[in-house]
Amino acid sequence: MKKLLLLAALLGTLSATAQVEFDRYFFDRTMRFDYQHAGNATSEHYYYNGLKAEPYWAGSKRSLCDTTNLGNQRFRIVDLEEGREIYSRGYCTLFNEWQATEEAQSVERAYAEAVVFPYPKRPCRIEFYGRNRKGEFELRYSQKIDPESYWVEQMRPRFETFDVVYHGAPEHRVDIVVLPEGYSREERAKFEEACRAFAEAMFAYAPYTELKERFNIRAVWAPSEESGVTIPAEHIWRETACDANFTTFDSERYQTVADQQRLRDLAAHVPYEYIYVLSNTQKYGGGGIFNFYGISAAHNPGFTGKIYIHEFGHLLMGLGDEYVGTTAYDESMYNKRLEPWEPNLTTLVDFEQKELWRALLDQQTPIPTPVAEQYRDCVGVYEGGGYVSKGIYRPAQHCLMNSFRGVEAFCPVCQAAIKSYIEFLCQ
Ligand SMILES: [Zn+2]
Repeated sequence: MKKLLLLAALLGTLSATAQVEFDRYFFDRTMRFDYQHAGNATSEHYYYNGLKAEPYWAGSKRSLCDTTNLGNQRFRIVDLEEGREIYSRGYCTLFNEWQATEEAQSVERAYAEAVVFPYPKRPCRIEFYGRNRKGEFELRYSQKIDPESYWVEQMRPRFETFDVVYHGAPEHRVDIVVLPEGYSREERAKFEEACRAFAEAMFAYAPYTELKERFNIRAVWAPSEESGVTIPAEHIWRETACDANFTTFDSERYQTVADQQRLRDLAAHVPYEYIYVLSNTQKYGGGGIFNFYGISAAHNPGFTGKIYIHEFGHLLMGLGDEYVGTTAYDESMYNKRLEPWEPNLTTLVDFEQKELWRALLDQQTPIPTPVAEQYRDCVGVYEGGGYVSKGIYRPAQHCLMNSFRGVEAFCPVCQAAIKSYIEFLCQ
């Protein structure tokens, strides 16, 4: 009971930060800022592509400023007249992941990205931040925005849409849009069935089961010219709606979409906050990037549902991977001298800031916690996680952010973090 009360107190602090009044600064639709995110292993640049107006705003009208400190990137909108932040969000990108690859040591590369925010009523400024070596957000680019400019491209719908799950007003819901990848015109029924299976899987696991009413799920029927998916390592290329590919960064199972603007063009047909791409393949794999998009195999015979849940954990709030990887690339993902911002990983550099985790930790449990039968179902601080076996710690011996076989649930820390974040999103 004591733990529950403490948890309630923490949820309170997350949502108590000063927010701005929606109607004073925004119209009830979306503005999108398109840009190229470019550079190499050590440099990072932003190049403006254009502005778009999308018909719906599905986000909260109260939690406008981001109080969570999640993400490797952050953008904010500043009202020019008052000089104050009126919207901000943390997120992660494929470009930043690519920066850790060997290719980025010798190649300059650009990825198409876009951020969305409620449509401003007055001139404003957009600012992009990245984390520096100390883990602090540092301004990388800024630009003025005139919301009345005739250069703001108006979205023209091209595809049919349908509701998969509807529970009410988007501003008080987590709104997921499901997009089809590699379903040909003849495969609409197969995609519709996959959408239903996606919803079923989502709500089969805690804490989503009890939070079901907090979700809307909608789909856009954007058929592909060809059926199936692109797998470069097997010399298989397909003409598809989302232009996804496996073999990202030479990892067999890593499926991604390089052009995020293309996904947003499809997603904007419905009110949405989170994009999830259902991939017409049995091949095990997928990917999920915080507040960016998620994608995975919709027809894997063994693990389709668990892959959804795992990747959506990354997408929704950037939950970290609790497993140990095998490659040199894995070693470079986290700086062990910094406390990671992910709520379910720690380097013990500043475990104090992991409030949800500490609230669930029994005082008798040793830190680090041995992987022993005695602590089997205990929240602890177990060494091994964030792709490495040493120096990064996870909260539980088993969790869906770690492995699937024989595991049916998120660990208590991931569950608490998801609940608290959904509370923030649905205000
Ligand atoms: Zn976990």
